[in-house]
Amino acid sequence: MRILRTIAEVRTAVRDARADGGTVGLVPTMGAFHEGHLSLMRAARAQNDLVVVSLFVNPTQFAANEDLSTYPRDEARDAALAEAEGVDILFAPEPAEIYPDGFATNIHVAGITEVLDGASRGPHHFDGVATVVTKLFGIVQPDVAYFGQKDAQQVLVVRRVVRDLNLDVRIEACPIVREPDGLAMSSRNVYLDADARDRATALNRALDAADAVHRSGDGDGIGDGGAILSAAQAVLVEAGIDVEYLELRDAETLQPVTRIDRDALLLVAARVGAARLIDNHLLRGFTP
Ligand code: AMP
Repeated sequence: MRILRTIAEVRTAVRDARADGGTVGLVPTMGAFHEGHLSLMRAARAQNDLVVVSLFVNPTQFAANEDLSTYPRDEARDAALAEAEGVDILFAPEPAEIYPDGFATNIHVAGITEVLDGASRGPHHFDGVATVVTKLFGIVQPDVAYFGQKDAQQVLVVRRVVRDLNLDVRIEACPIVREPDGLAMSSRNVYLDADARDRATALNRALDAADAVHRSGDGDGIGDGGAILSAAQAVLVEAGIDVEYLELRDAETLQPVTRIDRDALLLVAARVGAARLIDNHLLRGFTP
């Protein structure tokens, strides 16, 4: 595995791989690797000739009051883990390589960025994500890029950029990888002390409780959004979780839904101890 710092080096490596007829897979990350990241690398490795993982803690997607300065960073550990997954190139640029003096372009996706994490974290968040991902696609020009369903809204934002700007890349969303007790893996889980780590399991338990109601058809019939939300809410209250949002939204448009008559996402964000955590479940639409 080669660790590259410059855009020019990445372009050369990708050009060489393409000259041999190879396909290129990209896994964008902010590092502090866990099994979630590694699952994306494995998917990329299984499907491509050249696998590029980007490791860049993107400053523009953090608000001033967020954890940019304390975000976990350990490049040596990450490099060893990526190499063990058979990654070919770890692209780990300095911020100035990505945002040189005079950088002035912003990719803003309207609508779906204004709710959920866009509302909680502010409009800069998905602008930062959309802009850096578009740049990475321009730098690497991958055939396929791999994202985690853990960040469900991010997947939808990236798909919209690709569609609206006619980018020639396929987006693959990979399933959420969880700890044995159900907590979704996240680089931010290291912020949890023992008590918070224990309570953090309430997020997935709440989503599970909602799933159960959805499948059983409790409430005023199959797919009753109110009953589904109440079941999740009860678990979060019981665990004393400070909820930022708990919402049912259309899985494609992120419009609010009150009945699950097509695929919906149940999404939660919460402060647990020192961490801000997110999780979601896909609820399959009920076909009458
Ligand atoms: P991050 O480094 O947190 O920006 O995440 C990089 C990629 O890994 C994103 O596409 C995330 O959605 C994905 N990811 C993060 N956590 C998980 C997880 N628990 N399961 C699957 N994918 C994940």
